[in-house]
Amino acid sequence: MASEQETIAISGGTVIAHNGDGHGMIEDGIVVIQDDRIVHVGASWDGKASRTIDARGKLVIPGQVSTHAHVGAHEAQRALVDTGQREFIRSSFLHFLPARRSGQPGIASQQDFRASLRFGFSALLRHGVTTVLAFAPEGPDEGRAMIEVAEESGIRLFWAPIVTGGRYWLEDSGKVTRELDEEAGLASLKRAAQFIERHAGAMDGRLNGVIALDEYYVSTPRLRREAKAVARSLGVPFTMHFLEQHREFFETVSETGRTPVQCLAEEGVLDPSTLLAHCVYIGSHSLVGYPIADDIHILGEHGTAVAHSPVAFSRRGMMLESFDRYRRAGINVALATDTYPLDMFAEMRAASTACKAADRNFEAAPAGAVFEASNVSGAKALGCPDIGRIAAGAKADIVIVDTGNLSFGVNPDPIRALVHLAAPGMVDTVIVDGRVVVADKKLSNVDESALLEEVRMSSERMWQHYSVYHPSGQTLAERFPAALPHWTE
Ligand SMILES: [Zn+2]
Repeated sequence: MASEQETIAISGGTVIAHNGDGHGMIEDGIVVIQDDRIVHVGASWDGKASRTIDARGKLVIPGQVSTHAHVGAHEAQRALVDTGQREFIRSSFLHFLPARRSGQPGIASQQDFRASLRFGFSALLRHGVTTVLAFAPEGPDEGRAMIEVAEESGIRLFWAPIVTGGRYWLEDSGKVTRELDEEAGLASLKRAAQFIERHAGAMDGRLNGVIALDEYYVSTPRLRREAKAVARSLGVPFTMHFLEQHREFFETVSETGRTPVQCLAEEGVLDPSTLLAHCVYIGSHSLVGYPIADDIHILGEHGTAVAHSPVAFSRRGMMLESFDRYRRAGINVALATDTYPLDMFAEMRAASTACKAADRNFEAAPAGAVFEASNVSGAKALGCPDIGRIAAGAKADIVIVDTGNLSFGVNPDPIRALVHLAAPGMVDTVIVDGRVVVADKKLSNVDESALLEEVRMSSERMWQHYSVYHPSGQTLAERFPAALPHWTE
């Protein structure tokens, strides 16, 4: 937070301000911050600032809101892009996440947990994400590492330890199996609720609770109903992975006679503060082919929110059908950075191009709508109308993007250019809760090279451990061959 008397003025930039109805552009605008709030936005101001940030030639946008992120360095996943075990279809996480049923230590046993988290929060902030809903387990210390690392980074965090209603096992045969455990799920729900109550107001109010159920696919109807009821009673959002795996749809239909979306509607868990992570394989998806269920309409009539992260999904050869169709039905589509890169600019671009491809329509997913999905839509899903917008009275979460470079070029429309041309390295300044956490394209309190070194050591330990983890005994390089062979004479 800015010190008591400090008044920061951001002047001279193109400001994207919100008037209550929507975003609009102010050229040569001014934004004034006092403590943790924006106190003035406009074309002029006659007050006196104790500190001025010169934003001439730059774009001043709201802090980005990532509604679903696995915050960390992704030491295991990075090696696996484009590859994997074919019977897992498109579920890349099954390659490294499940524990061995026979008890050998999992891949994550070798991880430097804090360094990995520090990498994730640092990358998000450095790239302009000021609020993140993190999906992560409790960790070895009842969540203390998560809070400490997030607090030190300065980010705004939605998190409580995930509620897990079962698990996957990696069998000695190399198969992955699923096991439901409702009692364990209910116990972890209780712990998550206690965590939220215990940490209310932590991190100067930047820590917010959320009930995060790991997966629809590893939960029971009772656990989902109870998890949603706890979220309602605590006044926090409810989220879970939903329909990111193809099999979820067909197994549910064959077991219950209803689609997963119909099941959620019957269980009473759909409403505007339910945020479904991914929600790809609904009845009308072309790889499902069951449009008679009208899932999209059911989600829309409840005003359900979807955390849409097109980058990770496009790597697995799939896309949401589609950003525009969901929005037209009344679904609140909010963007999310999911795994890696933790880069909202990449998500905006992919959201636009994936929708254009899905709908065979070059006018689909227009830049203004995609931009909105990166900020206000997420804020709405999280129940925080005072973030994701630049407006008097809103939280001072602001990003200044340096557009004076050859990649951005010269463009008559800065928001179209932002969606289609911007990259995270263009982020010049990031302010969260009135505190400057990135200045002159550098994190204020993190030595990036030292952090990369810590993460490199953590990653190498995990990669080396692969042959112990996997029943094949193969090394990571054997199992997932490099894109190119080593050069030989
Ligand atoms: Zn996820």
